[in-house]
Amino acid sequence: MSIIVTGGSGFIGSNFILKWVSRTNEPVINIDKLTYVSEQDNININSENYTFFKEDINNHAFLTDVINNYKPRAIINFAAETHVDNSIEEPCSFIHSNVNGTYTILKSALEYYQKHIQPNNKKFIFYQISTDEVFGTLSKEESSFTEESPYNPRNPYSACKASADHIAMSFYNTYGLPCVISHCSNNFGERQHCEKLIPTIIRSALRDEDIPIYGDGLNIRDWIYVEDHCDAVLAILEKDLSGSKFNIGANNELSNIELTKIICDKLDRIKSKEKGGSYSENIKFVNDRKGHDFRYALNCSKIKSEIGWSARTNFNDALDRTINYYIDKYLKT
Ligand code: NAD
Repeated sequence: MSIIVTGGSGFIGSNFILKWVSRTNEPVINIDKLTYVSEQDNININSENYTFFKEDINNHAFLTDVINNYKPRAIINFAAETHVDNSIEEPCSFIHSNVNGTYTILKSALEYYQKHIQPNNKKFIFYQISTDEVFGTLSKEESSFTEESPYNPRNPYSACKASADHIAMSFYNTYGLPCVISHCSNNFGERQHCEKLIPTIIRSALRDEDIPIYGDGLNIRDWIYVEDHCDAVLAILEKDLSGSKFNIGANNELSNIELTKIICDKLDRIKSKEKGGSYSENIKFVNDRKGHDFRYALNCSKIKSEIGWSARTNFNDALDRTINYYIDKYLKT
């Protein structure tokens, strides 16, 4: 058997594939169009069990060929445009990749399912990687989102991710295509593009530039180490859970300013500032993002009780590893 991963050259997909090839000999096929976020070094795998195709997930004829050739038991869709700020500037590519792209994979998956899987009573799953952002925003006092919380996306990125979830579930309900969805909180770790918050904090600090923080910095995110997210996806994949949705989080709620100060303190200890003082002196509050969601938080009791998964990594250790990774990366470039 084999699995197909889309968007496997991005941040989370590359961590997932590296974990996959280190754990199993089952072939993995990565389809990624290599947008500006994907660095070739992200996924430099020399293994007969890894195959890469540079292609857009909107190419139906191509997807049909690859799926029919490799006959996967699962397709995991990580591919997406992911930077909220870009979606506010220009939503079009988000609709192309996150909505139309997901539809095109679903269409190809359904054709394959109806032709090769269903008649032979084999197992197959389409796995949509979603986000906590589809649920919208919480106040400080509100309870965290469960899988049953109503969707309330408030920016073009989260609206496109929400659309993709609905289309996937409609293929499950209408055509019987086995589908599963997981909503994950904010990931951090190695191989993330430099535009995202944690790489931006570290890069700006090391270059002695302003560390830009939106608004008053009080917006709260729930942080999970990327390896924990990938472990959760692996755990969900191996269960027969078609039609289910799972939240994936690590219960690490921090405001952006708290997180930034923690990183600056760690940087002060790991690589003290050449001119003396603390990196936190570089923090600069900038105009808030339009429609900035205040807080995301996930209730993850379902994945714990039904699958037995919970995040294992110690937040501090993972953050140290992440900071050291970006110090190496940014001091080389
Ligand atoms: P990323 O931006 O680092 O990577 C996305 C990858 O998708 C890139 O390699 C890109 O080239 C590829 N891609 C984009 N459009 C494509 C298309 N039309 N055809 C083929 N490939 C295309 O994103 P990420 O942070 O790794 O996120 C992966 C998935 O996880 C996304 O679906 C995202 O919504 C979801 N997610 C991310 C987070 C997070 O904190 N990063 C949290 C929850 C969910």
